[in-house]
Amino acid sequence: MEKKKQIAILGSTGSIGRQTLDVLADYPDMFAPYLLVANRSVELLAEQAAKFKPQCVIIGDESRRDDLARRLSGTKINVLAGAEAIADAVTDPAIDTVVAAMVGYSGLAPTINAIKAGKEIALANKETLVVAGELITALVARHGVHLYPIDSEHGAIYQCLVGEDRDSVSRLLLTASGGPFRTFSNDDLQHVTKADALRHPNWNMGAKITIDSATMMNKGFEVIEAKWLFGIDADRIDVVVHPQSIVHSMVEFVDGSVKAQLGLPDMHLPIRYALGLPGRLRSGGRRLRVEDYATLSFEHPDMEKFPLLAMAFDAISRGGNVPCVMNAANEVAVAAFLDDKIGFMDIPRIVRRTIDASGFVAHPTYDDFVQTNRDARRYASELVAR
Ligand code: MG
Repeated sequence: MEKKKQIAILGSTGSIGRQTLDVLADYPDMFAPYLLVANRSVELLAEQAAKFKPQCVIIGDESRRDDLARRLSGTKINVLAGAEAIADAVTDPAIDTVVAAMVGYSGLAPTINAIKAGKEIALANKETLVVAGELITALVARHGVHLYPIDSEHGAIYQCLVGEDRDSVSRLLLTASGGPFRTFSNDDLQHVTKADALRHPNWNMGAKITIDSATMMNKGFEVIEAKWLFGIDADRIDVVVHPQSIVHSMVEFVDGSVKAQLGLPDMHLPIRYALGLPGRLRSGGRRLRVEDYATLSFEHPDMEKFPLLAMAFDAISRGGNVPCVMNAANEVAVAAFLDDKIGFMDIPRIVRRTIDASGFVAHPTYDDFVQTNRDARRYASELVAR
């Protein structure tokens, strides 16, 4: 029997982390969770550790280390805490694949370390590519590692491109559900609440990405993610609103043919695909029955109603540190919205004003990204407080 793949999950208590553990549990002969990392959820992390028996667990918030250690006393599991421990642990020679499923900018540093250590990367943390796509792509090439997307759209495009020559691609079509406010007027959008925004029609996800879906910032991020993952310029990437979330994305080729990948809106599917590569993992789970869908519909996105989508296209064409600024401001604004400090339409306003106020760096180094992130967060926080 082949040796089990040793998996590190960064963000094991989040939505993608939990679903990754579901997948690992389905294939115990193929995968072993080696390292589990969470930011603050001590109770769930301890529960996962007791069940999956990894070699090591790390809690990001150092003040919770003792609590975690107490819960796991009597086990052989190594208990660590803090960002440095995370950055260090991902380089452990025993680890084969790192599932990067942390939320936001915090995923950048450990992902860079894992790439440098030659790990396979299954990337759910799209902000890593949004912030530093050029840097990440260069590192991936230099260290000869594989980077697989855990994102339903990018998993779809990846599958459509298997066996295809990159020169044969004419454009990528990223599908978007349109979120909970697809049919709302501009006026309606002024009055939506947190509860409204958290009610996604098709996907059950963490709070941050659910708000990003409601503003369509998520789709803007995905355009940037696709550019870096597939080496296709943003002017050849189009967003198509598809409210049923069954067609997960499409690729149009130079001969006029269009390929699509379909499936139920269930993240286990792209997780299974990313971990199973180069093959496919057999699953007895729920199946898509296209016969059950009388209509699959497609429409153009409304960039005026969802200005963050237009801002993302603009950010990628300006390049440099602009996507990093956009991401930082968005993280601050979304957190403030979830904290009831600002309204829904303040989110794009804060992102726009932060981008306008920030200095431009054409070819940012890692340190420039750190600085840009810090400055943009500070500026956006001031706008929230005003
Ligand atoms: Mg997605």
